[in-house]
Amino acid sequence: MKRGGTFSLQQAWMSLIPHSPVVPWANVVWIPNRIPKHSFCLWLTFRNGHKTLDKLHSIGVTQSDTCIFGCGYRETINHLFFSCSFTASIWNHLMSLCEYSRGGGGWDVVSEWSIRKLQGHSFRPWITKLSLAAAVYHCWVERNNRLFRNSFRNRDSVIQLIVSDVEGKCRCLDRVVANQLNTVIFHNWNLPPSLLSAGVGTGRP
Ligand SMILES: [Zn+2]
Repeated sequence: MKRGGTFSLQQAWMSLIPHSPVVPWANVVWIPNRIPKHSFCLWLTFRNGHKTLDKLHSIGVTQSDTCIFGCGYRETINHLFFSCSFTASIWNHLMSLCEYSRGGGGWDVVSEWSIRKLQGHSFRPWITKLSLAAAVYHCWVERNNRLFRNSFRNRDSVIQLIVSDVEGKCRCLDRVVANQLNTVIFHNWNLPPSLLSAGVGTGRP
């Protein structure tokens, strides 16, 4: 931190670990106006920290490593986010709301894509990163509910939870640049046009 600069907890923390390289996904996880529990879940995903069934099965904790979403495949981190047909259909829907099209693939493809494409924090990359964290979080919660609580939501209910969280954060924004793309994304997400600013802005959320 520079002398006289604004204090930042993140910078203070980074200064304590001087030789730690910044991971390429840091800007995908630590975004402005993030939802902390979603970011934590996304951070765990990038670190391959979730206790997925393939890991538990390999050490004899579970009898089966078959994906709980009924697709018949093995549950791995790559499969869950978002190669599985259930979670893929959720992520595909969110991508289309953010005006991206998706070719498929699992976490190796999605993570690489997010690092490469979602640079900066202007509105479109920001809302896509917010959506990614929300999708990973709510799909993981749904997986846990099915596995441990015998509680099942369908795809549309999970999408509804994600959309509600993302919309809630968007409604706290002030001044989003009213360019053509942002206007379309606002329409897709059903966000109030009053949040769009016609004036000169940075586009930062
Ligand atoms: Zn599956």
